[in-house]
Amino acid sequence: MQQDKPVDEFLPFTRPTIDEDTIQGVVDVLRSGWITSGPQVRRFEAMLSDFCGGRPVRALSSGTGALELGLQILGVGPGDEVITTPLTWVATANVIVRAGAKPVFVDVDPATRLIDLDRVEAAITDRTRAVVPVDLAGCPVDRDRLYTLARRRGLRVLEDAAQSFGTTWDGRRIGSFGDLVCFSFHANKNVTTAEGGCLVLNDEDEARRCELWRLQGVERLPGGEQEVTVPGAKLNMTDIAARIGIGQLAHVDEFTQRRRALAARYFARLDPDLPLDLPPRDDGRTNWHMFQIVLDPDRMNISRGEFLEALNVRGIGAGVHYPALHLFRLYRDMGYREGDFPHAERVGRGIVTLPLFPGMRDEDVDRVCDAVHDILRSESALRHR
Ligand SMILES: *Cc1c(COP(=O)(O)O)cnc(C)c1O
Repeated sequence: MQQDKPVDEFLPFTRPTIDEDTIQGVVDVLRSGWITSGPQVRRFEAMLSDFCGGRPVRALSSGTGALELGLQILGVGPGDEVITTPLTWVATANVIVRAGAKPVFVDVDPATRLIDLDRVEAAITDRTRAVVPVDLAGCPVDRDRLYTLARRRGLRVLEDAAQSFGTTWDGRRIGSFGDLVCFSFHANKNVTTAEGGCLVLNDEDEARRCELWRLQGVERLPGGEQEVTVPGAKLNMTDIAARIGIGQLAHVDEFTQRRRALAARYFARLDPDLPLDLPPRDDGRTNWHMFQIVLDPDRMNISRGEFLEALNVRGIGAGVHYPALHLFRLYRDMGYREGDFPHAERVGRGIVTLPLFPGMRDEDVDRVCDAVHDILRSESALRHR
């Protein structure tokens, strides 16, 4: 594994690892005379389908686009409700609103930070059309319980697996089973195409509908004729992006292994007596998309913002993924309030993403841990009780 950059340089919270073969491959595409959707996209889709146990997969221009087409294929529209988590990237809920439906949030389990499946049942109404679970940080929502519930209540599932490419459940890859599954290949995700995503579908009929909705609804008929039956979107992936993805797929297991080793090092080195919660333990399933601690404001005299700034002056980048999204103005205007989802709110207030990416070295983890200890142990930061 290529590991880059000496310790004294700024350490970002993530950085893609792109090999020379991929860079050359992109150059070849640029020189080929065909740079938008073409042979590279078809090859990438075939590889993704292989990865997903042979299920049909269609590449798209973003993970958000994959969620949008997923909702479209499920027929979600005005008057419908879709159940999801408030602790996710805002894309998950925005697409539900854009489809004309209502996002119905359900609080998270504080231990996993994932949608609390025990609370989903109570949120189901006559209008509920689908559930959109999110594998935050790559940690999988319990698929056995999810699909048992969905089957019992007759609900479709659109898995927002944007962060869990390479994660497994019960020995099977996320994407290789279940209902509709959406992945993102945004630059910060474990496998990237710079911008991109894909939708894993159940059958060829759904795949055909996905193709129509992804590119203006144009059907090509025999004899060069065309027909348009639906007002399709513009969500196709370029061959340039697909070629990056092809190069990335070759490394997915290696990336996951390296992330796992780095996460294990964080667990081994971070002092558990500090005012923070560690992420749920790795059980060998998670792709470790992110390593996230949750600060405990009741035991600290500095704010999260001050903590992030203190890391920053030590040359360490960190992120906030994510504030509980029902507290954003858009969602408050729909009637959501502080106190609605206390677990998501507490996690959302304290969560910090520490650096974790395959190109990181062991010493970089040590440097982050030293900085976290240094900041949180300082007399001014720690609140004595
Ligand atoms: C990244 C992400 C998305 C959106 O993917 P894009 O490719 O950025 O459009 C959706 N949901 C979650 C949970 C994400 O992390």
